[in-house]
Amino acid sequence: MTTEGEAHTRTIPDRIQPTPAGWESPELKGMLISASEIQSRVRELADQIQSQLPMDKPIVILPVLSGSFLFAADLVRHWRFACELDFIGLSSYGASTQPGLIDWTHKIKTDIKDKHVLVIDDILDTGQTLDEVKKELSKHHPTAIHTCVLLNKTLKTSGSTRFQADYTGFKIPDHFVVGYGLDFALKFRQLPFVGLLSPNCHGTDAD
Ligand code: 5GP
Ligand code: MG
Repeated sequence: MTTEGEAHTRTIPDRIQPTPAGWESPELKGMLISASEIQSRVRELADQIQSQLPMDKPIVILPVLSGSFLFAADLVRHWRFACELDFIGLSSYGASTQPGLIDWTHKIKTDIKDKHVLVIDDILDTGQTLDEVKKELSKHHPTAIHTCVLLNKTLKTSGSTRFQADYTGFKIPDHFVVGYGLDFALKFRQLPFVGLLSPNCHGTDAD
């Protein structure tokens, strides 16, 4: 079955492109998605979401810190309807490339009762983070929780059910990625493109 988010996603093949000039680093193996591909997809996503969600009342936009900060900043620059913008924070990776325990770093402070909420996250991997976010936000009785992720990793195992986002920018191969908000030990968040780490930087996902 294809969900609404999957039907509209763009699939990135298992490719590697040269790191753009000026951004080369021994820790970077190359580029997966260019800055211009990201920008045009972000604009499409913003248009798609605004055409589908009810806009009669302000929607509450909740980016998940820290990884979604660039994605959310670019997405909301295309937002023409009324919205309330606040942030929530969770972290799961620490300084490694393997998922760990989820830790709330900033819980919701805004009143979301009887409102539509749009959660924005950087990447969907195991789905644990967005599962936890939805569970926590539901306790505050919003009208509906919509989710949007820039990246959705292809599962290693087929047929398994896991959290699906309502809106997805790109479906990507299962590699550890950095850039455009995503970090490795707090580095590379500032890259305007999505890149792949060099094999010597991490353990099991070395290529
Ligand atoms: P999940 O809870 O879905 O397994 O993972 C979601 C969170 O883990 C993301 O919000 C992100 O912070 C982190 N994450 C998952 N995959 C990657 C990745 O390939 N690179 C980076 N930098 N972070 C990742
Ligand atoms: Mg995150």
